[in-house]
Amino acid sequence: MARLVLKFGGTSVGTVERIQNVARRVKAVVDAGNEVAVVVSAMSGETNKLVGFCREIAPLHDAREYDAVVASGEQVTAGLLSMALQELGVSARSWLGWQIPLETDGAHGAARIMGIDTAEIERRMKEGQVAVVAGFQGIGPDRRIATLGRGGSDTSAVALAAAMKADRCDIYTDVDGVYTTDPRIVERARKLDRITYEEMLEMASVGAKVLQIRSVEMAMKHRVRVQVLSSFEDKPGTLVVDEDEIVEQELISGIAYSRDEAKVTVVKVSDRPGVAAAVFGPLADANVNVDMIVQNVSDDGSTTDVTFTVGKSDLALAQKVLDDHRAAIGFESIHADGNVAKISVIGVGMRSHAGIARLMFETLAQKGINIQVISTSEIKISVLVAAEYTELAVRALHTAYGLDSAA
Ligand code: ADP
Ligand code: ASP
Ligand code: MG
Repeated sequence: MARLVLKFGGTSVGTVERIQNVARRVKAVVDAGNEVAVVVSAMSGETNKLVGFCREIAPLHDAREYDAVVASGEQVTAGLLSMALQELGVSARSWLGWQIPLETDGAHGAARIMGIDTAEIERRMKEGQVAVVAGFQGIGPDRRIATLGRGGSDTSAVALAAAMKADRCDIYTDVDGVYTTDPRIVERARKLDRITYEEMLEMASVGAKVLQIRSVEMAMKHRVRVQVLSSFEDKPGTLVVDEDEIVEQELISGIAYSRDEAKVTVVKVSDRPGVAAAVFGPLADANVNVDMIVQNVSDDGSTTDVTFTVGKSDLALAQKVLDDHRAAIGFESIHADGNVAKISVIGVGMRSHAGIARLMFETLAQKGINIQVISTSEIKISVLVAAEYTELAVRALHTAYGLDSAA
C-alpha cells in the first residue's frame, strides 16, 4: 500500500466523459489498496476564458478580484470529480483551498504556498475517503482566495504530496511524459524515462509547460518523487529524480521555448551609475519579473539602450511603471515587442563541455535566424528570436544536438 497524490490537468478533465474516465482511473488506484488524494485543474480553456473576462473589464485589474474569478474553474471540476467517484461507489469529498486550508502569502495572482493543514484529509483518507482538492488556489493572509500562478495545480499537487509525506506525486496530463522538447512541435522528440530535478527546473523555468516551475522547486526541496504520465494511456511516464539516480547522463537533456515573454527597450537612457537601479527598481517594486537583460552603449557614447524581457501579461504594467518614473530615469522612448520567442538549450553536461553555445549560434545562423538577446546559466543557454522562427529554431536545435529519435 502506498500513499499517492494524483493530479489531473485541464485536458484530462476537459469534458464530463473525461472526468468519468479520471474517476475510473482513481478508483483503480484506490482498489489496489492505496491511500489517495486527487488534485484537479479547471477544464481546459476555462482559465484562459476567465482571464480574458478580467482583461476585458480592466486591463490593469485588481489582483484580489482576478483571483476570485479565475479560481472558480477548479471549484467546478473538484465537485464534478467527487460526484463521479461517488457514482462509482468510491467515498470522495471535494476541498477548496480555504477549506483545507492551504495557506498562501499575499501575492495575489502568483501566490506562494506557506502551509497546508492536512490533518482532516489524512484522517478521512485512512478511512478510505478520497480527497478531491481544487488545484491552483489557496487562502491568503487577507482571508481571500489566492491563486498560485498559471499552471499552479502542479504546485498544489506537489505541495500536498510533501505535506502528507506521500510516496509519489503522479501528474497526469495529455502527453505520456517529459520529452527532449515539446512533442507537439517536434515529431521526433524523445521521451525521457528519467530527468533530474535540476534539469526539470531549468526546462520549466524557460517555458516547458509540462510542469510549473514552482512545483519542481517544491519537489526538489522536499524530495517528492514526481512522475509525469498520460491520463489517456496506461503506461509508465517520466520520473523526476536526483542526479545520482541517473545512470547515463546526456550532455543536453532538452530544448524549450516560450512565447510568453515580451521585449522592452528603453531608448537613450543617460549612461551614468545608478541607471540600471532606476529602471529595474520600480519594476521590482511593482512585482514585474524581468528575465533577460542587455545594455548597449549608443553611438553618441553618453546614452545607453536597455533591453529586457518581461512576461507578456506584465507588459502593460511594465510600460506604465516606466512611464510613471520617466522623470527619475530619464529616457527618450520605450519600445515594446510582443512578437518574440525565447529558445533555450538545457543540460547539466554543459558544466564540463565547451562548444555547446557555439553549436547553438551556428545552427541558428545557418537557418538565417537573428538572435536579439542572449542569456546563460550554468546549465542553460537562452536566446530571444522573432516569434515566427520558434518551430524552425526548436527543430533545428533538436537535430543539431543529436536529440532526434531514431525512426
Ligand atoms: P495540463 O493541463 O495537464 O497541466 P499542460 O498543457 O500544462 O497540461 O502541460 C502539458 C503540455 O506541455 C503538453 O501538451 C506539451 O505540449 C507541453 N510541453 C512542453 N514542453 C514539453 C516537454 N519537454 N515534454 C512534454 N511536454 C511538453
Ligand atoms: N487552471 C489553471 C491554469 O490554467 C491551473 C492549472 O491548470 O494548473 O493555469
Ligand atoms: Mg499544466
